Amino acid sequence: MSNLRPIITICGTTGVGKSKLSIELALKIAQGIHGWRGARIINADSMQVYTGMDVITNKVPVAERMGVEHLLMDFKQPGEQYVVGQWVQDAIKAIDETHRMDMIPIIVGGTSYWIQHLMFPNRLPTPGQTLSDSVTQSIANLPPELLELFNALPEHPPSAASHPQDAMLLHRLLTALDEPVAQRWHWRDTRKVMGSLRVIKDTGMAPSEIIIEQSKTALIPRYRTLCFWLYAEPSILNERLDARVDDMIKVRKVLIDRSLTDRLTDYTIGIYQSIGEFRPVFFYDTYLQDLGYKEFHDYLASAEPSEKVFASAVEQMKYGTRQYSKRQIRWLKNKLLPAIYSANGGGDHAAALLPVYLLDATELGDQWTSRVLNQGERIVEAFLGNETLVDPLLLSERAREMLTIDVKPTSPTEILRARKKVVCPACTLDPSQPFMVEDGSQWEAHRRSRTHRRHASRDKKMHGQPVNRRVMVHSDIPSKVDAEDQHRSIV
Ligand SMILES: [Zn+2]
Repeated sequence: MSNLRPIITICGTTGVGKSKLSIELALKIAQGIHGWRGARIINADSMQVYTGMDVITNKVPVAERMGVEHLLMDFKQPGEQYVVGQWVQDAIKAIDETHRMDMIPIIVGGTSYWIQHLMFPNRLPTPGQTLSDSVTQSIANLPPELLELFNALPEHPPSAASHPQDAMLLHRLLTALDEPVAQRWHWRDTRKVMGSLRVIKDTGMAPSEIIIEQSKTALIPRYRTLCFWLYAEPSILNERLDARVDDMIKVRKVLIDRSLTDRLTDYTIGIYQSIGEFRPVFFYDTYLQDLGYKEFHDYLASAEPSEKVFASAVEQMKYGTRQYSKRQIRWLKNKLLPAIYSANGGGDHAAALLPVYLLDATELGDQWTSRVLNQGERIVEAFLGNETLVDPLLLSERAREMLTIDVKPTSPTEILRARKKVVCPACTLDPSQPFMVEDGSQWEAHRRSRTHRRHASRDKKMHGQPVNRRVMVHSDIPSKVDAEDQHRSIV
């Protein structure tokens, strides 16, 4: 049996009941399980670290914490930067302290990549003092326009819809610095493109170099981790999320309306700093964007705020919350699970160092007790007692469905090829905004689509004979040449 110390993590989407479960499990452990004196909860939600915004970020009110200590919550001022690397350091400290008290750390939150980096060390790119050889060389070869851009990257990703030239320029810069990674991102996906450029700035390495570097070392867990994935059927969960927004709005509407008159209320603190005008603070990130803050900002900022604008802000908030929860599930399925399975070395997950269980929180009430709480308690008890655990796939039909995943590519070449985008010459109407689609099945589907066939046949008519359009904006992006194109003359 491993001598790694035990921790428990609870992951899952927003509004699924993670906090409730963590407190219930902490109380159970406090009754005395295998000599442990209790549990402390460590927050792993990137927005709950900030003071204020208690309602929108769904913080458990102190009165409902049943005396269970919550750490790393409410301790940063809005506007203060706090990123994954800092959280991991703070969480390790809190975990050490908790173990010294003979208590179990329960790490709870929707920011799964924080949890992932806590579970697996050495997976975060470290800030580099020097540039790698390949980056040095690429920078030396940058045309002045791109060099200038690299030296002064914009603070926020530009919108590709309103600023296509800016978006294309960033993509060209990334192509020049790290071609394999640039090929994975659509030029419209400025968030991804900027993310990769930031990595280069911060680490001095090209992201593809980092992928290759990391693939050389196995994933070695930091703790013996019992991982719970609290899950609810999206159709049911969405209703609950909508209801939560409605509840929140009832309370907030008063504050929001008041903020229209004095422009400085609890609502605005932490979201907007009032510097003569409303201005998003820098941590105004995708999380808040998803939660519809931008729409509320529009409502607040408009000269004549109408009920109609307000209603559409509420709708946007509901939609955003759903999208957010969808993305959270994608991360769990596509990133966290494959990492855990890989670290477990495949095979018997119940006997593994990192057992992972899906608990079904679709139904509340009695069902919560039987499907979530009781099962959770039994598993915790067995885990802390180093006893044989139940097979995670046998827990429920949903568990089997959600925990069974396709094997992900692990070699760097495969990873880099996995999401490669290609340009469709026929469908590119404006050469400065190439039409891109993911290679593989998406490309095949596109090639058969009505739009593509229409564009391709129009090409034929216009030029008398099939012609390969000259659309390459940056020659680095390979054009997709289909069988028919092979016979075309290049003009
Ligand atoms: Zn096409």
